[in-house]
Order: sequence, then C-alpha cells, then structure tokens
Amino acid sequence: MGGHEQHHVVLFPVMAQGHINPFIALADLLHRRRPDLKITIVNTPLNIQSIKSSLPPNSTIRLRSLPFSPSDHGLPPGTESTAGLPFSLFINLLEASESLHPHFEQLLHDIAMEDGHLPSCIIADNFLAWTVETARKLGISHSVFITGGAFGHGLLLSIGLHFLRLPTTQTNHVSVPDFPEIQIDWSQLPRHLFVPDNADKWTGFFHRQNSYCFQSNSMLVNTVKEFETTGLSMLHKLFGLPVFPVGPVLCKPLSSSLDDVSRCVEWLDSHRPGTVLYVSFGSQNSINASQMMELAVGLEESGKPFIWVIRPPFGLDVGAEFNPEWLPEGYEERMREKKQGLLLVHVWAPQLDILGHGSTAAFLSHCGWNSVLESLSHGVPIIGWPLGGEQMYNSKFLEEEVGVCLELARGNREDMMSAKVEREGVKKVVEMVMGGTEKGVEMKKKAMEISELIRASMEVNNGVMGSS
Ligand code: UDP
Repeated sequence: MGGHEQHHVVLFPVMAQGHINPFIALADLLHRRRPDLKITIVNTPLNIQSIKSSLPPNSTIRLRSLPFSPSDHGLPPGTESTAGLPFSLFINLLEASESLHPHFEQLLHDIAMEDGHLPSCIIADNFLAWTVETARKLGISHSVFITGGAFGHGLLLSIGLHFLRLPTTQTNHVSVPDFPEIQIDWSQLPRHLFVPDNADKWTGFFHRQNSYCFQSNSMLVNTVKEFETTGLSMLHKLFGLPVFPVGPVLCKPLSSSLDDVSRCVEWLDSHRPGTVLYVSFGSQNSINASQMMELAVGLEESGKPFIWVIRPPFGLDVGAEFNPEWLPEGYEERMREKKQGLLLVHVWAPQLDILGHGSTAAFLSHCGWNSVLESLSHGVPIIGWPLGGEQMYNSKFLEEEVGVCLELARGNREDMMSAKVEREGVKKVVEMVMGGTEKGVEMKKKAMEISELIRASMEVNNGVMGSS
C-alpha cells in the first residue's frame, strides 16, 4: 500500500464475550497509541450490536457485521455466543465460524472499494486463525491474538493438538506432549473431551486452527513479558512465530449499580485492612450444589470475613431465583448478624472496587484470565478453583511458577474428574493464605511484586484501571 494511505487494522474476535471484551480493549489501546489508525471490529450481527452498546457514542472504532444464520448450523435461533452452551453446541458454533470465510473476504473487498485500498492488517482470534488464508490471498499482514495468558494457552493448545495421543485411562501424571518437562494431573485434562465424538470434533477444529496459526505473521498475547517468560517461549516453541506480549489489555467490566458499589465499599470499610476474602467464579461459571454447601460451611468455620458472589449452582438456569436451601440453614442471617459475610446474590459485583480495597486480603477465583490480571494488579493473592478450559493451567502456572496461588479445588461437573470439596479443606486453605502463615506471607509478597510488573506495563500501555 502507498505511504499516503491511512493504516487500517481489522479486528476479529471469536463469538464469545470473554474474547470480544479483550478485543474491544485492544482496539481501544491501539486507538490511544495511534489515533491516526483506522480500526474496524468485525463480527456477527448480534455481537456487533452488543459491541456497539459498550463503545462510547463518539467512538471512532468502526463496526461491520458478517451475515450469520445459526439455524444453518443446527444452532438455536439467536445463538451467536458460546456462553452457556453445552459442549456439543459450543463446538458447533466454533465450527460454524469457519463458514464466515467467504463473507469475510467479501467484506475486505467492500472495504477496499469504499476506501480505495485494502486494510493493512488483520488481527484475529486464535480460534479464527483461518482468517490467515484470506490475509495471504489478499496480501494483508496477519496476527493472531490470544486473549488469555501465555502459559495457560501454551498448554491448552498443545493438549488440544495432541489429545488423541494422550492416555485414555486414568494415570497419576500426564506429560504434555510438546513440553515433556511439564506434568499435569489427570484431572487437569479437559473433561468434555472424554466423549469420543466431542474429542474428534474438538481435535479436528484445533488442528485446523493451529495449522493456520503457523502461517500467521505473529502472535499477540494479553500478558506481561516479565511475568510470563515461560509461557511466551512455550508459544514461540509451538508455532515458531514472533510472539508479542501486548498486555495487560484490561477490559472495562460492566458497571455495577451505585448501590452495590457503596454496599460493598461500606462493608469493606468496616473491616480491618487485609482481612477479607473475595469469592467469585467469574461471569458465567458456578460450582455444584454440594460444593456450594461445603464452601459455605468452610467459610463460616474459617472465621474470616468474606464477600461471596453467589450464582445458582451448576445445572440450574443462570437466572434461577435464589433458594435459601442452596446454603446451610439460617446462613444469610448468621453471616449478617456476625458481620462475617456479605452475600451478593444475582449481583454484578464491583470486582475492581473490591480487589482495590485495602481490606481485601485474597481472592478465591476460578482463575479466568481477566480476574487473574485484576487480582494481581492489586497485589491480591489467589485461592484457585479453576472450572474449565485453560483456567486449570492458569491455576497451575500461578501456583507452581509464580507462587501467588494455592489451589483449593478444580472442576464443577458431577463427573469422575471433579474434585470433591470438603469444609475442612476450605478452612485449611483459607487459613493458610490469610492466617499469617509463612506460605500466606510469601504469597502476598510475590503478588505485590507481580503487581509492580503489571502496573509498569499498564503505564506503558497508558492503561486505566478505573473503578466501575
Ligand atoms: N466480573 C465483574 N463482576 C462479577 C463477575 C465478573 O465485574 O460479578 C468481571 C471481572 O471483573 C472480569 C470479568 O467479569 O473482568 C470476568 O472475566 P474472567 O476472564 O475472569 O472470567 P470469565 O467470566 O470470562 O470466565
């Protein structure tokens, strides 16, 4: 392209909120760093509508829809996001994204007609690495963006590539094929893959996307170099591409109501510094009914104050009305009277306000990557309870490589690989992390060190870690 043409980057996240949000944050970062850059986000119609509603009205980021009909792919009407889908539909939707190929190519031609030239660069989700074929054909530069962490994705991608070569019967430890020095536990393998049909589809999809990744020009990862040197070199070893840590690109979470913000902040104000545990399993996951009961008792018996974001137990509809039977008898009243627990039921918690408050000592988290970055940027150590996907490997990384996490449990599904959680275990881990033990003190120290690294990168990125 000629020197006088305006550079134009096209961003294409996969159809999942947890990917779309970091792409919006990346678009915002690019815009702040290079205001002269033209930026377009591409997606299916419903996702474009939701992206539009999360951009400021005067945003110069452009949005373009690709035609998509869920019913053509055996999906219920309106299915344009992987959130909450059972695995068979989840993989259908991922596979369906490959059908966007001709529409995407047409869109780039349309842009060329309008602007007089093609865009200069495509940044696509690693689940949409097929876009590299279009990029190659049209002579456009291409990058893959991994919205999560490097170590977690290094393991997830390697395991996805070689899943059919992994042991099919239970063993104590499994060596990760590309990284034999890394051992994972049997229960850290993706559980949904133990259904043969799922395994075939998933492995096929992963193989295709990964082989496209090899043809890309580079890989961008939402992480910080000094924090994830191991993971970044794992990705480089897997794909042989230049790998650029561009993080943290921190998504601005949905705003909580002002009432909920002040309720939480006032409650935290009434507790001593560094004494409160924050418990949340992210935006879409929950634990099962018996785990919820054991967690409740364990938290109470730990005697530590806590804020707990409660969602219906796994298996119930996400919007199911709160039922006091999810918790031990009289629990809510007792927690209120003792001022021990603030239960946020069906509330979008002001997570950044909570993590940023001086009373918060630790975060019991599912180890979703946004939660990890948010917690560590505030120097808050983590009690890990990963529930799926690469969360298992995030937790492993944070515990074994970084020393800022202690894993309490993993999994939520009622299957053989889900850990049984007992109240004594909850109490013990909470005590270890928050009770002034040598381990807890060391974890806090490490978390503070990582906080410095993340904050230094945020300054470079001109990032804003505002409250909601
Ligand atoms: N979040 C929040 N309030 C809630 C639940 C989640 O603000 O009640 C935000 C949280 O701050 C984070 C995001 O939602 O930015 C969750 O992302 P993460 O990657 O941790 O997990 P996911 O929800 O994608 O599993």
